[in-house]
Amino acid sequence: MQDVILVVEDENNIRANMIAFLEAEGFEAIPAKDGAEALKLFSDRIPDLVILDLMLPKVDGLEVCKTIRRDSNVPIIMVTARDEEIDKLLGLELGADDYITKPFSLRELKARIKAVLRRTKSGVVKSNEEEILTFGNLEVNLDRREVKKDGEIIDLTPSEYSILTTLCQNVGRPYSRLQLLNATLGESYAGYERAIDTHVSNLRKKIEPNPQKPVYILTVYGLGYKFGDQYEVDQ
Ligand code: CA
Repeated sequence: MQDVILVVEDENNIRANMIAFLEAEGFEAIPAKDGAEALKLFSDRIPDLVILDLMLPKVDGLEVCKTIRRDSNVPIIMVTARDEEIDKLLGLELGADDYITKPFSLRELKARIKAVLRRTKSGVVKSNEEEILTFGNLEVNLDRREVKKDGEIIDLTPSEYSILTTLCQNVGRPYSRLQLLNATLGESYAGYERAIDTHVSNLRKKIEPNPQKPVYILTVYGLGYKFGDQYEVDQ
């Protein structure tokens, strides 16, 4: 089955190039020239992935992202221009899975697409009705709330477990400290975001092969943390 990619881009040349490239790479690529058309096409047929330009006429990229996220977990890659740093982060807060900055090469775009599709399609292994996520030597059993490293159960505090499962269920997606705090406590305690750093530091000592050089819980500078995608190398 071909993966279907919805390409939302208002600049005709860029959109045409992306469509031609994606089709040559074996995807089915659907073009949308503005946000309104994107939402219409999305409701007609749910794609496997959406590439979404931030600055769009009619309905902008953030609004399209928010609308799609209301009832779909389809992976979304936001496309931003260099001077859109704040919007870039806003896009992530709204539930985008990754972003790419203009100008980008088609090779880079392909690497991002492959990484995002791999993340969203793998990782989950059903065994005996139990949902177990495996990452290298690490095993997270979501039903038993049990984490194993090299086959040995490791003791995590409830906060550490919440942070780990929040991150590893969306591999590669960055979370702010506030988002992790909310996941941990169920509500926001403004000013206590730095407490997440302590939990993360303790978590790394327990699960990382080398806590000084983490491969699972990665720092996203200026934002928070994400779970490492060990396959995401081609960038
Ligand atoms: Ca644009």
